[in-house]
Amino acid sequence: MLNIKSIPAFRDNYIWLIQNQEQHCVVVDPGDAQVVLSYLQTHQLTLDAILITHHHADHTGGISDLIRHFPRLNVVAPADEAIPSMTHPVRDAEQIEIFGHTFDILSLKGHTLGHIGYYHQGILFCGDTLFSAGCGRVFEGSYEDMWLSLQKLMALPEETKVYCAHEYTAANLAFALAVEPENKDLQHYREQVNRLRANNQPTLPSTIGRELKINPFLRPSQPEVIKSVSDRTSNHDPLSVFAALREWKNEF
Ligand SMILES: [Zn+2]
Repeated sequence: MLNIKSIPAFRDNYIWLIQNQEQHCVVVDPGDAQVVLSYLQTHQLTLDAILITHHHADHTGGISDLIRHFPRLNVVAPADEAIPSMTHPVRDAEQIEIFGHTFDILSLKGHTLGHIGYYHQGILFCGDTLFSAGCGRVFEGSYEDMWLSLQKLMALPEETKVYCAHEYTAANLAFALAVEPENKDLQHYREQVNRLRANNQPTLPSTIGRELKINPFLRPSQPEVIKSVSDRTSNHDPLSVFAALREWKNEF
């Protein structure tokens, strides 16, 4: 069994930590080394590897300090991005082993050109591609790239736990409810999220099944979503609706 914990960093990042039974661990997207080092010390853990989803500093900024503490650290990162100290460049459809579990590398182009995700039966680390009730900004790729990446994630089993890199859920829900005010699942989820955040609890991981019900960016074929963007696009194909939603969210 892989035990997965969240280490909060900066204002709203999560660094996910995967732990095995023998006090060894791997961290995903360590933007800040200090919070990781103090967690390792408190829990008496040894860091074996780092997994990186994309090049942004809030995901990679802690790599060099962590290597100073653990010189034999493996740094698994997207081959198509310039990641400092990367030891294991990986590409779409390749696999890596984490404590005897095989993770598939998924290309998730859109937020950045080389963005990747890590998937192992029921567990997904998707960086800044999919958030709960939202998706990442399309900085380097095209809307089509991002929509193709999200469709890959939509095809994963519904029970898949989605470990996103940011706690954006509450703000995303305000937008999602503007798009689909009548969506009962969304209304119910907002109450749940409000309770969690009031107690300073993470809303993550989410699941693919839940996101399919509440995330407007995964629902561009729903009549209520299409209606909400009808003044922004006359095309009702999923890609055009997705692009209209993303532009609306950018200015929301
Ligand atoms: Zn990013």
